[in-house]
Amino acid sequence: MIKSDFRSDTVTKPSKEMLDAMFHASVGDDVYGEDPTVNELQEFAANLFGKEAALFCASGTQTNQIAINIHVKPGGEVICHEDSHVYKYEGGGIAKNSGASVRLLQGNRGRLTASEIEKWIMPDDVHFPVTQLISLEDTANRGGGAVYDFTEIQKISQLAKNKQIPLHLDGARVFNALAVNGVDLKTYAAQFDSISICLSKGLGAPVGSLLLGTKEFIHQARRVRKVMGGGMRQAGFLAAAGLFALKHNVARLDQDHRHAKQLEAAFLKCDWIESSLSVETNILVLILKEESKRDVYIQKLVDAGIKVSSFGPGMIRLVTHLDLSEEHILKTIEQLKQL
Ligand SMILES: *Cc1c(COP(=O)(O)O)cnc(C)c1O
Repeated sequence: MIKSDFRSDTVTKPSKEMLDAMFHASVGDDVYGEDPTVNELQEFAANLFGKEAALFCASGTQTNQIAINIHVKPGGEVICHEDSHVYKYEGGGIAKNSGASVRLLQGNRGRLTASEIEKWIMPDDVHFPVTQLISLEDTANRGGGAVYDFTEIQKISQLAKNKQIPLHLDGARVFNALAVNGVDLKTYAAQFDSISICLSKGLGAPVGSLLLGTKEFIHQARRVRKVMGGGMRQAGFLAAAGLFALKHNVARLDQDHRHAKQLEAAFLKCDWIESSLSVETNILVLILKEESKRDVYIQKLVDAGIKVSSFGPGMIRLVTHLDLSEEHILKTIEQLKQL
């Protein structure tokens, strides 16, 4: 039986070509700044995004938490979506690492608007926490891979500048967003003060994320990363996978998006599916007719070789990625008809 793992785009394994690049990497001690491959990856990414500098880190949680720690002082406030990864899936890190307060907004499919944010930027009054950061997520995971409208991002960026509040992007899946909105990468990146990107999601690297910003910001980030236990030594073996991913695995992302749409169409034909969060990128969120039967259906899918994840009450999530070929998708659609 052909098995398809749709739980996440993090389940991918390095391809033979990626492994070759890793095996042949030149390495050194990166805490001394002497790993040539880490340095190459950081420079490559900084140039790609038109930012001054970049820092290679262990995970997207680490890059987000480092950024928050630099932007926000204890008692300060972060404005973000109530379902955002920085708040919901980082173990309470905003409170634990930075002692900061959060203002959680509802938004639409994980996305915020400038007018909604503006209402919650606190005036200078001793009663209120000081708003010190706005954080956006693009694509928005809990929004089912929803992509921001770029003009909204520009409005938010302008608002942040006017109010002198830094703007952070959790761009774990930013290349999926860019494949859809078609915006020039540097123009897009210029809207943000700091950007976190994941190499280990749809890009297929085994480990690693990058934080991007000004030279001064990345200088500070290097210190915070060390404090958080994230200073790695011969990390070039991992950075080589990240470089390979950035060079070879970005252009193919619309294939994953196409696959997610094919799956959506097939699932919507099943009588146990109520609806979906309309697919925009590589994430398909399904809403079941009977909320209480979620785990029964997840098990039926697993038994048919289709691994999916639960995504809250009555919801299932599937994510397409580079280890799922056309064959996996067609086979899954075939299996669905017999479920
Ligand atoms: C996966 C993810 C991250 C980072 O997760 P790590 O597992 O720590 O690398 C951050 N934000 C979003 C939206 C994500 O999906």
